[in-house]
Amino acid sequence: MPDPNTHSGKKNETNEVFVPSNFIRHIIEDDMQSGKYDGRVVTRFPPEPNGYLHIGHAKSICLNFGLSIEYNGSCHLRFDDTNPGKENVEFVNSIQEDVQWLGFNWDKHLYFTSDYFDRLFDYAVALIQMGKAYVDTQSAEEIRQNRGTLKAPGIDSPYRNRPAEENLELFHKMKNGELEEGACVLRAKIDMGSPNIIMRDPALYRIRKHHHHRTKDQWCIYPMYDFAHCLSDSIERITHSICTLEFENNRELYDWILDTLGVYHSRQIEFARLNLSYTVLSKRKLIELVEGNHVSGWDDPRMPTISGLRRRGYTPEAIRNFCERIGVAKRDSMVNFALLEHCIREDLNKKAHRVMGVLNPLRVVIENYPDDLSEEMEAINNPEDKTMGTRKIPFSKVLYIEQDDFMEDPPKKFFRLGPGREVRLRYAYFITCTDVIKDETGKVVELRCTYDPETRGGDAPDGRKVKSTLHWVSEQHAVNAEVRLYENLFTVEKPAAADDFKATLNENSVQILKDCKLEPGLGTVEPGFACQFERLGYFCADIRDSAQGNLVFNRIVTLRDMWAKIQKKNKKPNKK
Ligand code: ATP
Ligand code: MG
Repeated sequence: MPDPNTHSGKKNETNEVFVPSNFIRHIIEDDMQSGKYDGRVVTRFPPEPNGYLHIGHAKSICLNFGLSIEYNGSCHLRFDDTNPGKENVEFVNSIQEDVQWLGFNWDKHLYFTSDYFDRLFDYAVALIQMGKAYVDTQSAEEIRQNRGTLKAPGIDSPYRNRPAEENLELFHKMKNGELEEGACVLRAKIDMGSPNIIMRDPALYRIRKHHHHRTKDQWCIYPMYDFAHCLSDSIERITHSICTLEFENNRELYDWILDTLGVYHSRQIEFARLNLSYTVLSKRKLIELVEGNHVSGWDDPRMPTISGLRRRGYTPEAIRNFCERIGVAKRDSMVNFALLEHCIREDLNKKAHRVMGVLNPLRVVIENYPDDLSEEMEAINNPEDKTMGTRKIPFSKVLYIEQDDFMEDPPKKFFRLGPGREVRLRYAYFITCTDVIKDETGKVVELRCTYDPETRGGDAPDGRKVKSTLHWVSEQHAVNAEVRLYENLFTVEKPAAADDFKATLNENSVQILKDCKLEPGLGTVEPGFACQFERLGYFCADIRDSAQGNLVFNRIVTLRDMWAKIQKKNKKPNKK
């Protein structure tokens, strides 16, 4: 266990879990000590606006913005908008909304790579003039074939030694729209024999006659990611350019471009991307789910997108806490979805009111209770936090309990209600089942019970015990609601590893219950309101579909903490 007092390891304020420092913090602290960037820390989060953000992006956001806060620096939000056709304003807006919702702020540092198109063009011209870039008129297929393999070197393009003036003329023709898409590309002149395939004369610019959502039709050539990214970092004087491991091989090119041009040099650092069990975190796959109508949209509550998690009822605190707990590593791994669920439970356990709601109602008539009486029972809002107070809930002769809480012929381990059995109704009375009413199909449709008036509040003066406490709602006071229950979107732990990930979709990932009964106080809650339905889990009024008079609740998570169970079994707290 590292010492929490040294090298930026820190305690997490909310749960007292020790969060160890990470290798990126060490790099930054070393750079600060050596004065490499004059003590500055400037990071960036560079999404491509071609989809909505997901929980993997949240890891990157928390890391980049988190470091800038920790070291008193800044974090830029930069849209990597170099791929017109796939990108649009809806995505730009949703990304800004999601970053802010997560609790981060870019201040004045909102940038678009497209704002640098003029400068990037000039840098390309500079490379051509230095003899470090050339226009290749081979076909895309020829370029691919001549790239070589991991074992065999590539073959020089016949156009590799074109004189600079000719390259400049062709490059201007590309820019002016005089050449067709695919007719040629601008390539860096590096080394076709490099063991790193990325260094074998990579493409820097290509022709794309697409409308761009910001630069409109001004450009018909667009820079490649590897060219645009390092130079955008350089232009913005980023100190630490943090990206995922797939870019490890690209770092050589990142450095080559900046060194060759002799411009400000940010440092690229790679970390392992987040993989989460039972879901997919690739924008391409998420787009397929949306476009194929496998989900209701980007913000479907089953989606691992930030907007989906928000709609499901996840809080920014829980997501930030999750990102902190998973830590930052150099090796890819799979994080258990149960940890994310654990984090939202932990957050809502402290904040959410406990209420009573019956999902599958079974009518109960208390025969010895006065017909027109209704009593107010005192209920505790949150036993974890007494300052959240109490409320009154109405009790009357006809109630609903959960169908699951009754069995006509209960097996040994079933301690809830059955004929002749006595149970406690939470905050109310002991009741005993005296009769069972069935419909013509034999289905139990109503119970007759008696109550013991001496047990008001839930305790018997004679000290007798009952084995079970049930939640309930008074029929005449109940409000109706639709409740949506969710399971994993996929049936397998690694859907991305399947031949067709869509074949592993869980057909039962949503169950809609239309006839739920909730305690009356919930009738006026606003969309987004989160609470615990006692014994059933945490729920949230749907921000899209719920309204007063037409309540719709999403189950965020059940109360069964699989993560705590796994931890107990492994006896290794806070390890993935
Ligand atoms: P995807 O693979 O989902 O398409 P991407 O990397 O292409 O993601 P970008 O919009 O380019 O999507 O990502 C913006 C930033 O978020 C990048 O710096 C990228 O490294 C980071 N990022 C994307 N996915 C993850 C992930 N699963 N875990 C951590 N960081 C991620
Ligand atoms: Mg990307």
